[in-house]
Amino acid sequence: MGLSSEDVSKRIQVYGKNRMDQGKTPSFASLFFAQFKDFLILVLLAAAVISGIAGEISDAMLIIVIVIMNALIGTVQEKKAQTSMAALKRLTIPEAKVLRNGKRVIVKSDDLVPGDIVYLDAGDFVPADGRLIEEASLKITEASLTGESVPVDKDTTAITDPLTALGDRSNSVYMTSLVNYGRGQFIVTATGMNSEIGKIAGMIQGTHSIQTPLQKRLDELGRILASGAIFACVAVFAIGLIRGGDPLLLFLTAVSLAVAAIPEGLPAIVTVVLAIGVQKLVSKNALIRKLPAVETLGCASVICCDKTGTLTQNRMTIEKIIANDQIQNASDLKAKIMNGPEKMIVEIGMLCNDASIITSKDGVQQIGDPTEVAMIDLAESLDYNQSAVAMKLPRVGELPFDSQRKMMTTIHRVGDTWYSFTKGAPDIMLERVRYYFRDNQIIPMNDELARGLTDKINILSDQAYRVIAYAYRQYDTMPEVSAENLEHDLIFCGMTGMIDPPREEVKEAIKICKRAGIKTVMITGDHKNTAVAIAKQLDLFEKDSLAYTGTELSEMNDKELHDRIKNIAVFARVAPEHKVRIVNAWQRKGHVVAMTGDGVNDAPALKKADIGCAMGITGTDVSKEAAEMILTDDNFATIVAAVREGRGIYANIKKAVHFLLSCNIAEILILFMATIIGWVQPLLPIHILWINLITDSLPALALGVEKNSAEIMNEKPRSPKESIFAHGMGGRIVFQGMVLAAITLMVYQTGFANYNVEVARTMCFAVLGFSQITHALNVRSQKNSIFSSRLFTNPYLWGALGISCVLQLAVLLVPAFQSVFNVVAMNTAQWFVVFIGSVCPILVVELTKLIGHVMRKYFIQTKK
Ligand code: ATP
Repeated sequence: MGLSSEDVSKRIQVYGKNRMDQGKTPSFASLFFAQFKDFLILVLLAAAVISGIAGEISDAMLIIVIVIMNALIGTVQEKKAQTSMAALKRLTIPEAKVLRNGKRVIVKSDDLVPGDIVYLDAGDFVPADGRLIEEASLKITEASLTGESVPVDKDTTAITDPLTALGDRSNSVYMTSLVNYGRGQFIVTATGMNSEIGKIAGMIQGTHSIQTPLQKRLDELGRILASGAIFACVAVFAIGLIRGGDPLLLFLTAVSLAVAAIPEGLPAIVTVVLAIGVQKLVSKNALIRKLPAVETLGCASVICCDKTGTLTQNRMTIEKIIANDQIQNASDLKAKIMNGPEKMIVEIGMLCNDASIITSKDGVQQIGDPTEVAMIDLAESLDYNQSAVAMKLPRVGELPFDSQRKMMTTIHRVGDTWYSFTKGAPDIMLERVRYYFRDNQIIPMNDELARGLTDKINILSDQAYRVIAYAYRQYDTMPEVSAENLEHDLIFCGMTGMIDPPREEVKEAIKICKRAGIKTVMITGDHKNTAVAIAKQLDLFEKDSLAYTGTELSEMNDKELHDRIKNIAVFARVAPEHKVRIVNAWQRKGHVVAMTGDGVNDAPALKKADIGCAMGITGTDVSKEAAEMILTDDNFATIVAAVREGRGIYANIKKAVHFLLSCNIAEILILFMATIIGWVQPLLPIHILWINLITDSLPALALGVEKNSAEIMNEKPRSPKESIFAHGMGGRIVFQGMVLAAITLMVYQTGFANYNVEVARTMCFAVLGFSQITHALNVRSQKNSIFSSRLFTNPYLWGALGISCVLQLAVLLVPAFQSVFNVVAMNTAQWFVVFIGSVCPILVVELTKLIGHVMRKYFIQTKK
C-alpha cells in the first residue's frame, strides 16, 4: 500500500525534509552592507566626510545619497542573481519512485519520509537510507560513503550482528549511493541529516557557484581597467595640483572618476544576464546544471544525439510480425487464430517486460520503456491480460535490459519446468540462437535460415522499423541467473517491427543547425538500416554521409576515425563506451561537442563532451548528475533552442560590456584630456557619480536582455578561445569612447568660449548624460543600423533609457536639484547645442556602420 498522504505530511513534520542543511543564504541587509566593503566606495565615503568637514555639506550629502543608491542597485542585482540561481537549484532536485496510497508515483526526493517504499532501477541514486525488501540482480556503488568504487551485490537477507560494518550491510541501501545494475525496493529508514551521509559532515557536496570562463576573463579585465583608471585618476590629481588646482576638488574628482571608470557593476550585470538567460532556458525545457555551459552552448559546433526519443517520438507501435519466415501486419493477427511462434512472440513480449499499462478513471497511463509498452499494447489488443498471464507464469529471476548486451531475459516457473524468455536486438540475438521455432516445430537454426531472417530484418529496418527478436529456453531446474548462462542456445520464435515516427520539429531544427554551421550526428543503439532510414527522413543523412556500426568503429584506428569522422552522420549499434571515442575524435578536430545520454553507462561520454545533455524524462540520475544540461522534454529541438539562447546570452553580455566600457573610456578621456590641455575642470565629482549611476546600471542591464536577433543562427559557431573583443569590438569600444569624449569636450569648449564655466559645465554634464543614453542604442548591433526593423524590440531598453532621461532632465530642470548639482538653467541655444551633441554619437556610429557595410559588400564582390 505504501504510506498515505496524511502519514507523509505528519512524518514530514516530525523528520523534516529529506535534504542536507544547506547553510543560510545571505539576507538583503547583509548583501547591502557587503557593498560597502569595496575599497573605492570606502574612499568615496571618506571623500564625503572630508568635503563635509571642508564645509561642502550639500556635496557630502549628495555623494552619500549616490553611494547608497549605487549600493542598493548592486544589492538588488545580486539578490536577483542569487534567487534565480537558487530557484534553478531547486529544479534539479532528483526524483524518487515511491509507493504511496497504493500507487507508484514519482516525487521530489526531498519529500521522502521514513516508512516510504521506494523503487530502485539501474542508474538511480539511492534517495534515502533504507532496508531492502525486494531485489533482482541489484548492484550498488557506495563510493560516496565507503570509498569503495566497486559495486556491491545487495540482497534482502536479514543481518543479525549489530556490529556489521556499513560496507557489509548487504540488505541496506544508503543515500547518494548509485544503482549500477538490477532493480529493487526498500523501506526508508532514515532521511536528510539522519542518514549515514548526513552524519558525515563536510562530505556533502557543496553548492559553491562556479564562474564561467567569460566571468573569469571579465574579472581579469576589470582588474586591468581598474589599474588603468587609477593611473588616470592619480595623473589627473597630480597634474591638477601642479597646475595649482583646488586640492579638495581634485581629490574628489579623482575618487569619483575612479568610481565611475571602474566597471564595478559588470560582474553583477553578467551574473544577472546569465541567470535570466538560464531561466529563459528553463522555459524552453533546458535545465542548466553548470553555469559555464551557457557560454559553451553558444560555441557548440557538433551535436551528437541519441535517436530514440530525442530525434524520434518514442511512441512505439508494433506494426509488423515476422513469424514462420513471413512478414505480416500485426493488425492481421487479430483476424486469425495465432499459432505457436506468433503466440510465443506475444507472450514473451508481455512477460519479459517491466512496463505496464494502467487503465483507471483518470485515463490510460503507460509506465515504463515505450518499446515494452508497445508489446503490452499488442498483447492487450489480442485480449491478453498481463497480470493474469503473469500469475500463470510467475517471474522467478531476471537479467535486466542494458544497452551493452542489447537484450533482456526473465525466468518463469510453471510447475517443475523453468523457462527463460529473452528479447532484444535481432542481429545480436541471431548469434545466440541454436534452434528455430517455425511452423509449430523446433528445428536447428542454420546459416541459410539465419540469412533469410537477416534479409527480413533488413527489409523492415530499411523502412525505419525498430526490430526486436524473441526467443526462449527450457530448464528442468532453476538456472543460474547470468548472461553467460542464460543468453545462448536460444530457441528463436520470431520478431516484431515497431514504428517510432521522427519528431515533427526536429527536421526544422536540423535545418537551423546546418545554417548555423553545426553538424548533427546520430548515435544510436538501434540497427544501422533503421537509423539511416530515420536519418534520411530528417535530412540528417546526405549524399556524402556515411554510417558506421559500433563494431566497425572498434575496428577503425584513431587516425582512420579522425579522417572520416567529418562525414559520419550515423553511428548505429553503438555501446555507450563508443560515445566517448566519438566525442574525443570530434574534439581533436577542434570542435565543441554537445552529446546526449540517458543510461548509467553514458556518464563518461556526458562528462567528456563539452556540453553533456541528459534526458529529463527517460534519463537516469547518474546521467543527469554527469550532464551540464538536462533536456526536460528529451527533445533534440531543445538543444538547438538552447544553443540559440546560448549565442544570444553571449551577444547580450557583449553589448553590456561594449556599452559600459565605451562610456567609461569616455569619462576617463574627458577629465584626462581636460587636465592635460589645462582646461578648468569640465565635470564636478557629483556629475561623474550621477552619470555613472543613471547610465551605467539600467541601460547596461536592459542591453543584457535584448531579444535574439534573427541572424544569430545564421552565423558560424564562435570559438571558445575567442576574446570578447574579437572581430573589431575592442577597436570599436575605444573609438566610440573617443567619439563620446570628443563631442562632450567640444560642447564644453563651446559653452566656455561663449558663456561661462557654470554654463559650460552644465552643458558638458547634460551632453555626456544624454549622449551615453543615445549611445546605448548604438551598441545594440555591431553591424546593423539602429534604424533597422529591430528598433523597438526591447521594451526594457526603452524603459531604462526613458527613466535615465527623466532623471537627467529632472536634475537639469528642477531648480532644487539644479542647486544641489551645481548646474544652471540653460537657454534654448544652449539646449540646442546639447541636443546636437547628444545625437552626434548616433550619427558618427551610423556612418561607421555604413562604411563597414559598403566595405564588406565590396570585399565580397571582389572575392567573387
Ligand atoms: P538510442 O541509443 O538512440 O536511444 P536505442 O533505444 O535503440 O536507441 P538502446 O536502448 O541501447 O538504444 O537499445 C539498443 C537495442 O536494444 C535496440 O535497438 C533494440 O533492438 C534493443 N532493445 C531496446 N530496448 C529493449 C528492451 N527493453 N528489451 C529488449 N531489447 C531492447
